[in-house]
Amino acid sequence: MAFTIEQVKALVREFPDFPSQGILFRDIFPIFRHPEAIECLVNHFVDHIRALNQQVDVVVGLDARGFLFGPLIAIKLGVPFAPVRKRGKLPGQVVSVTYMKEYGPDVFEMQADAIESGKSVVIVDDLLATGGSCKAAEDLVALMKGNVVLNAFVINLVGLEGHKQLKAPVYALIEC
Ligand code: AMP
Repeated sequence: MAFTIEQVKALVREFPDFPSQGILFRDIFPIFRHPEAIECLVNHFVDHIRALNQQVDVVVGLDARGFLFGPLIAIKLGVPFAPVRKRGKLPGQVVSVTYMKEYGPDVFEMQADAIESGKSVVIVDDLLATGGSCKAAEDLVALMKGNVVLNAFVINLVGLEGHKQLKAPVYALIEC
């Protein structure tokens, strides 16, 4: 079955009070139960990125749900994928940034040779909330002298104004 982008959006589910009281968790995994829905999602992002008419050299995905579709976007664009991971998961020399989570500081890392100086980057993740994680990813790219041209999400919780934390423009398939 071929999926429209509206049908893909409708697959996202909400779970109240997960993983903790008061959080309305947005679950994108149902999209990944349908190969044609995955393809529709990936093509949607690729079309949006191509329409920017900007050089894109690397797709960077955030731990962990950015790993689900970031590499698929990278394949279609014909560029490398580079992961941002939580502290202590990546071997070799890394660059690190500390950022604030709800209950205290956390650390994101990238391999120091993941992005060459001057390269243009698209950052992808499932959801933009406060913007803390994506800002940390922007800061990691900046440490390697890369240039973020877009932050792309499946969902943007616009009321939390995460985009205000970020230097590069934000695109989201779903704004709620
Ligand atoms: P933030 O750093 O506040 O923008 O939070 C974004 C990160 O936390 C993303 O990697 C999301 O996967 C996760 N996240 C935050 N809030 C939610 C939510 N309501 N539903 C699903 N994931 C969330």
